[in-house]
Amino acid sequence: MKITGCETHAVTVNFEGMMSGTHVVLRLRTDQGIEGIAYVSRVGPRNIRAMALVMEAMVESIHGLDPSNAEEIYRKLFGAALGAPVSGLELRAASAIDVACWDLKGKAVGQPVFRLMGGFRDRLPISANWALMPGGPKDKLQAHLENLLARGFRAVKAPCGFATIPDAVDHVKFIRAVVGPDVRIIVDLNFAHTVKSALRFARETEEVDLYWIEDPVAFHDYDGMAQVRANAKQNITAGEVYQHPHEFKWLLERRGSDNVMIDQDLGLTGFLKIAHMAQAYGCPVVNHLAPEALAHPIAAVPNGLIVGLVPWGQPLFTEPMKVDDGNLVMPATPGLGLTLDEDVLKKCAVS
Ligand SMILES: [Mg+2]
Repeated sequence: MKITGCETHAVTVNFEGMMSGTHVVLRLRTDQGIEGIAYVSRVGPRNIRAMALVMEAMVESIHGLDPSNAEEIYRKLFGAALGAPVSGLELRAASAIDVACWDLKGKAVGQPVFRLMGGFRDRLPISANWALMPGGPKDKLQAHLENLLARGFRAVKAPCGFATIPDAVDHVKFIRAVVGPDVRIIVDLNFAHTVKSALRFARETEEVDLYWIEDPVAFHDYDGMAQVRANAKQNITAGEVYQHPHEFKWLLERRGSDNVMIDQDLGLTGFLKIAHMAQAYGCPVVNHLAPEALAHPIAAVPNGLIVGLVPWGQPLFTEPMKVDDGNLVMPATPGLGLTLDEDVLKKCAVS
């Protein structure tokens, strides 16, 4: 199998009127007629066209290579062969191409990607990570939480970094009162705090029984993260903005977090490297965004903890991710198990 080219689509889609996202979708083509799929999010409107062009140029640079050789392509795309890693749009394009290569690899041998990567399990916990900001009407929040429980979710994540500590504490206490004692509640502090204010939040929410506190302090303050981790009773999760393996190494060496969060920016190949490194430190791993792709390495490795579902890419596909009694049911179909919705790609195209 050889890579022969690609097609890109820039689209803006909306999930249930609650969350919208602009994405660049990549379809990686081969001489065998099968295509690999990936998408990149968080691209500003002015950079959408640039993102697609960079992606197309990078695919040209691997023209004729076999997508099954993930490490060969990873080395070429991420620039490790030159000793100087890629960054910016190039890095983000490279990560999407890497994801599409894994999709192709699975399709070529008729296996789901998570099985090729290790196949540790085919069901794993999933959390609902949308529309849980503090500050809105309480009755609306309650209705949303009840809807999530009815849909089978048993874990939720609330971003609280933009609220005051009293408001954030009040918010998570309200969520606990609605969902009961058996649902996992995750709080994201979005890098907003000092060590001391993060510890104040941790102390004041001890009785709420949080599953983890995420990004309590600035992402580059590895020692501050470690101080919070050492002094808070709750587990700490960090890592979502890191794009290179050495950043995770710095975090892990300092014991900066209990769980490691990995973004698609590392590619699936890079995700696996970080997951194995984290395992050596006894740390579970979770995903940041791109749940459709990143659920695969989490299901594949023994230290995969839970998949966070940010659903802004879900309208791109014909099938939603399947949730059953708190678990994500991994697709049994080859590759990533994703089928693009052609109508959505046309209707929601960014001009
Ligand atoms: Mg976060």
